Amino acid sequence: TITLRKVTKRFSGNTILDNITLDIPAGSVTVILGPSGSGKSTLLRCINHLEKLDGGTILIGGELVGYRQKGQALHELGSREIALQRSRIGMVFQQFNLFSHRTVLQNIIDAPMLVKKLSRQQATSKARLLLRQVGLAERENDWPQQLSGGQQQRVAIARALAMDPAVLLFDEPTSALDPELVGEVLQVIKTLAHSGITMVIVTHEIGFAREVADNVVFMEEGKIVAAGPAHSVLDDPQNHRVRHFLATVL
Ligand code: ATP
Ligand code: MG
Repeated sequence: TITLRKVTKRFSGNTILDNITLDIPAGSVTVILGPSGSGKSTLLRCINHLEKLDGGTILIGGELVGYRQKGQALHELGSREIALQRSRIGMVFQQFNLFSHRTVLQNIIDAPMLVKKLSRQQATSKARLLLRQVGLAERENDWPQQLSGGQQQRVAIARALAMDPAVLLFDEPTSALDPELVGEVLQVIKTLAHSGITMVIVTHEIGFAREVADNVVFMEEGKIVAAGPAHSVLDDPQNHRVRHFLATVL
């Protein structure tokens, strides 16, 4: 379970996340929707402590993220402890972020060897399994630039999975892709849904959200304006903001 309690984030005086409280059940798929600038990426970045909080707390599996509590006060963890927490939280970005000077296989095995202390052999056999799972078994020795955007994003997903994360965060994983490549990436994400990993996905793919999301959170100006079971949020004609947003993205 990911628990956000009164999470507030400001950038140079502007409140970007405004007192966000949200429970994301373990193993569930949550899709975050909302207009540009509403704070979706910032929310994801707070969950893996790429951003410090200005207020509130985030817990994953009951453990405070990024901080330790001493009496009433919160103290930020050291960089090693933060890195350890982050190793259990996978993140997939819009721009893939593969290491261009590392092959597909190297991209996947580096972190498990360094952080999880897997042997090269263990990491490699796991990587091969994951590459098969994302449909890229034949491409382990390719360089990222030799792959299409959709293939690169599938490698990025395999790389995240190689760390056995409890939580997987996706920030618009298909919005940098040519339209014909979107489907193959969504298909891979679909196969991961309900595999036990807690997934939080920022996307504008509403059809996909309807198919995979257990819960949908709709954000506007740093606040949650609607949240609940996917169908009740997406099909609620009462919520004019959600309805207006859906009309603009479809
Ligand atoms: P999009 O759909 O365009 O990706 P978003 O919902 O992900 O938007 P965020 O990227 O979270 O929105 O940004 C929310 C607001 O916070 C924006 O106004 C943005 O300019 C501001 N912001 C984000 N990161 C920073 C930063 N590092 N410094 C200053 N302002 C920032
Ligand atoms: Mg964003």
